[in-house]
Amino acid sequence: MSEDDMHNVRLALTVSPLNGETPASIGSRLAARNGVRPRDLCSDMGMRWPFLCSGHPDQLALLADVGGLELPHLELWSAQQVRTGHYRVGRTKSSTGVFRRTSSRVCPTCTEEALAEMGRYGAHQLLEWNVLCLSGCARHKTALLDLPRAATSHETYDVVAQVDLHRDLVKQAADRQQVYEATEFETYARGRIYGAPQADWLSGLELTHLHGACMTLGAAICGAPLQHFSSYGQAQEREFCVEGLRVLSAGSESLLRCMEELKARSRSRRPYYSTDLGAFYHWLRAAHERPELQRLVACVHAFAVRSYTMKPNRRVLGRPVPGVQRMSFDSARRQTGLGVALLKRLIGHVDGLSDTETEALTETTPEQLDRALEFWGGLRNLKTTAAALNVLPTQVKGLIDKGVLRSIRFGTALRYVYAEDVGLILAEVAALHEVPGVGTYLLLRDHCRNHRIGLVRLITLWREGKIEGLARVADVTGLQAILVP
Ligand SMILES: [Zn+2]
Repeated sequence: MSEDDMHNVRLALTVSPLNGETPASIGSRLAARNGVRPRDLCSDMGMRWPFLCSGHPDQLALLADVGGLELPHLELWSAQQVRTGHYRVGRTKSSTGVFRRTSSRVCPTCTEEALAEMGRYGAHQLLEWNVLCLSGCARHKTALLDLPRAATSHETYDVVAQVDLHRDLVKQAADRQQVYEATEFETYARGRIYGAPQADWLSGLELTHLHGACMTLGAAICGAPLQHFSSYGQAQEREFCVEGLRVLSAGSESLLRCMEELKARSRSRRPYYSTDLGAFYHWLRAAHERPELQRLVACVHAFAVRSYTMKPNRRVLGRPVPGVQRMSFDSARRQTGLGVALLKRLIGHVDGLSDTETEALTETTPEQLDRALEFWGGLRNLKTTAAALNVLPTQVKGLIDKGVLRSIRFGTALRYVYAEDVGLILAEVAALHEVPGVGTYLLLRDHCRNHRIGLVRLITLWREGKIEGLARVADVTGLQAILVP
């Protein structure tokens, strides 16, 4: 037969493809219907069975011709390889992680029904059944059955022969009636296989990544310990996927909130993103270079650098840490020269924290430290204050006790005066009328001695407006410049 003739051949007995049925399954049924083996059918029709199984476009076109089939259907369900280990699965994609192109995984109930209706050529393979993160048939909810592999993948693709060979296994599985109600995750994944990707930030993820992200995040949410992660059974994995999808499908803010919660309930002695995010982080670290995962990577990276103390030269998921976002009190102590206890109390004061919250501080941020240092810069100790006012430290304490100067303590006996108050009182002295010499006035010190009045009392009365007519002499500093009439 010439090549032109072959293209005009149409088989007398055809089959009607089912929604989602693979071209290999259609070829297998077509051969059975016509009483030959798929290999023989193919060679008779100028096709090659192994190439048809791999979904070569020219083979699909020939199959469409000889079987009177719609080419777009064959192309859609051919699981064409897009690059090594990556396949088109209906209207989505998957790598080999959760997709096995060369396996016979069938619904026993669908198979039993089709066999009863059509005979042996009813045995068929839907592409979605080879997606391992789907547990049950969409129609019957029956657990999908993995048939033993044949000697070669091309024999495995012959679903009619496979079902013939393992007829008893299929029957037993159908009788067992193990039910897997589709989970939200499975419905979501199936929606992608048959329709367009959902309009959310996960739309670029192929099925293996979608499954990996949802399952590992779900495991972290459910508190599954990392070291036992692989020992969880199917039921738990299904539960993890649902938990993970619930958070992830809601967007990046939802993931950030979830990670905050994971951090908040961390029981680790030294909390760190790699332990707090558990299986989810370990999954993402292994896959972080994939372009389609960059939005997830950016989200986890942002969370890690803003929530944990880390050295500036570190990288998180391959990305640099932008400056120092969090710092330990040890770094803060070295940077400022102030003790950790004092730093904590300063921060507690400026940020209005309770004593318990102040005690519980384990790290700080540059912004928080700046606030604390700015406040600290506005305080003077007693000695400096005494020097500025040109009085004794005990007199400073007296002025504090009288409320002339405000003071603050930080958990110790040491008192600090607000520099602002010192500046104010000195400004008032400077505003007094300056006279060229002592003249009829008395220097403050002499006045106090002669009139047996304390300096503190006199200054307090002056500040209360009860003493008037004071003047000031040049060349003397602080309060001692005051002249009393
Ligand atoms: Zn079924």
